[in-house]
Amino acid sequence: MQEIYLDHAATTPVHPEVLEAMLPYYRELHGNPSSMHRFGQRTRHIVDEARSVIARCLGAAPGEVIFTSGGTEADNMALLGVMEANRDRGKHLITSQIEHHAVLHTCKRLEAIGYEVTYLPVDETGRVSIEDVEQAIRPDTVLISIMFGNNEVGTLQHVGKIGKIAQDRGIYFHTDAVQAFGIEDVDVKRLHIDLLSVSAHKINGPKGIGALYVRRGIKIEPHLYGGNQEKKRRAGTENVPGIAGFARAAELAEETREERRAQYEKLRTVMLDTWKEQGIDYVVNGHPELYMPHILNVSFPGMKTDAMLMHLDLAGIAAASGSACTSGSLEISHVLRAMHLPPERLESAIRFSFGYGNTVEQVREAAGRIARILSRKDG
Ligand SMILES: *Cc1c(COP(=O)(O)O)cnc(C)c1O
Repeated sequence: MQEIYLDHAATTPVHPEVLEAMLPYYRELHGNPSSMHRFGQRTRHIVDEARSVIARCLGAAPGEVIFTSGGTEADNMALLGVMEANRDRGKHLITSQIEHHAVLHTCKRLEAIGYEVTYLPVDETGRVSIEDVEQAIRPDTVLISIMFGNNEVGTLQHVGKIGKIAQDRGIYFHTDAVQAFGIEDVDVKRLHIDLLSVSAHKINGPKGIGALYVRRGIKIEPHLYGGNQEKKRRAGTENVPGIAGFARAAELAEETREERRAQYEKLRTVMLDTWKEQGIDYVVNGHPELYMPHILNVSFPGMKTDAMLMHLDLAGIAAASGSACTSGSLEISHVLRAMHLPPERLESAIRFSFGYGNTVEQVREAAGRIARILSRKDG
């Protein structure tokens, strides 16, 4: 049985060209970028090059890109670093109820040390309302952090509009673009973004490397102390192979963005059409138009998520619930809960996420296997 991987929102395989780009830094090029000698100069060169590549993909300047250990660290750094460095401006932060835990749990930490957080609700499609953002702003609001596109349901937010509001009110705007990077146009200048998080392993890069864009002039307190790396904003010897791989992955993602978007749209259609033809009962969760095409969250009323995931795994299909599995029991996702979906949809939601390498044949095959699981459920 052919295994079919439809969980690219969790992580993606490393692209062969990315691996090629990394290998020299595991073999001959081992110098520390901080060293004066030629060994160091060679690796410093790739770190500089990679920074320019990532900056170009974001419409930023190289000096505005800080390498981190991934999306989680970038989110932590944005929230903790900006709130702490701007304590004189206030202690209030606005976010949403559907953020990734890298943002939500950092907000919990901020609350525990005396900051105040407003968690904005979303509608049934997973969108934050602009009016709610405006109304939540207080004189002591320092930062708004609203994700670009949601990792569970794919819904896109009004990022440009929120950025403009924040700019007009003199508030910083951070967005977690980990899922959107490589799928959407994430131009930080056009969208008035002050801080933005990205991660390599969601775009066919290696795990353990990511970046935070910080607009020039924004004060941010470091959270790792040590050497002078990343202009003293993030100490620690650079993950040189990871940085080289991240840059190659970002280049490939940018070059192929339009064709991959079209491919993912096609795969969605194939999936849904196959189910329609087979008379499968399903509901798509998320926004009908404003979504990232690689994420497809559906509920199969009457088939519980955990049972379905088990059937899928037996059928060789990798998908996800989007919710955290704690000690074997599935917790209902905070995202779907915030969308106030009816209980039968909450309890039966599955996230399929497409990526580089998924073909129409694979997805048609997967949709057929899923239809067979669902049609035998009552028998
Ligand atoms: C995966 C993900 C993260 C975490 O990134 P890591 O690099 O795995 O730490 C943060 N936010 C979103 C939206 C994600 O999908």
